[in-house]
Amino acid sequence: MSSAEWADGASRAPGPPGFDLDHAGLKAWLQEDDPARLELLWMEADRVRKARVGDAVHLRGLIEVSSHCVRHCLYCGLRAPTVELERFRMEADEILACAQEAHRLGYGSVVLQAGEDPGLTKAFITEVVRAIKGDTPLAVTLSLGERDDEELREWKAAGADRYLLRFETTDPVLYRRIHPNLPGVPSDRFAQLQRMRTMGYEIGTGVMVGIPGQTWDTLASDILRFREFDMDMIGVGPFLPSPRTPLGGQGVAAFLAAPSDQVPNDELTTLKAVALTRLVCPDSNIPSTTALATLDQARGRELGLLRGANVVMPNVTPVHYRIRYEIYPGKACVNETAEACQDCLDGRIRSLGRSLGKGPGGRSSRAM
Ligand code: SAH
Repeated sequence: MSSAEWADGASRAPGPPGFDLDHAGLKAWLQEDDPARLELLWMEADRVRKARVGDAVHLRGLIEVSSHCVRHCLYCGLRAPTVELERFRMEADEILACAQEAHRLGYGSVVLQAGEDPGLTKAFITEVVRAIKGDTPLAVTLSLGERDDEELREWKAAGADRYLLRFETTDPVLYRRIHPNLPGVPSDRFAQLQRMRTMGYEIGTGVMVGIPGQTWDTLASDILRFREFDMDMIGVGPFLPSPRTPLGGQGVAAFLAAPSDQVPNDELTTLKAVALTRLVCPDSNIPSTTALATLDQARGRELGLLRGANVVMPNVTPVHYRIRYEIYPGKACVNETAEACQDCLDGRIRSLGRSLGKGPGGRSSRAM
């Protein structure tokens, strides 16, 4: 059954036999703690992953192109009010060199990610996208935050293939709380995702698991929204508190006092969310996130790949910039060169009996 058929059956409880994937079913699965039941979930997520997107693990080289940011998102270490950060913005030729390195390492795509930085102008990104597309066969994904339609259209015309913008939460009250508006600049990530789809981008989104204020109901709704929007890529990782932010330091206690049914930001809950995301969006590309690998440096990457994920995003940013792109502390592999990272990942992926993806690794099919 296609995800679109699922989407219009809101009153049904779709899913593989024994798996009710309506709101109540998802909420119950998220809170499940019986090891035997969880084993069923892991097996089903892995079965669906294998049947629908296969054994290839697609590698996307992540390039952290700028740590400047104008936004005040309460969870992110790059937020504008953080003063003790040494900010950087890469030059066009440096970004191109990273993309060439990703191509040399055999990756099929690169992701240009940054804080929301007006210094990354329309013309600059256009030039960078054109250079990468002209010089390599890589698919190019942008993840530059909320940008206006004129920019997005021009970058698409320059050859950008995909855009990642996590909607972060379906709860509008929580959304506003963690994303203080800039004066005169409202924030509407769902609207931008819709418009980007119309422009022809493959679109990716996602949420953090355990952001303060997230309840089981919220997270179940988030997962249902992935299906309603038929997202091409879905990143789900644990919230990792940054001491530089209001949600990481002393202030968090006041914020957290609210819900009694707060979702924990732990590995098990994240893995349940990843597995359920695979069941509701069987054809989507789902990364085993760096945040998960940071929480469990020994096994996080592998466990994500075993429980529904089929993508990894190795960091190809030069190490001296990477350590300054501190969204949260202790980021996995922060000191490893792209080459070292590649050797390690290659071994980890093969040890699971999986293969390295070839080519750009786009969404294989979409029910329109
Ligand atoms: N400025 C871009 C890129 C942000 S970084 C944008 O806003 O889209 C990409 C993702 O990292 C964010 O969407 C968020 O979900 C995640 N992230 C931010 N802070 C985090 C934290 N403290 N712990 C875990 N993930 C975090």
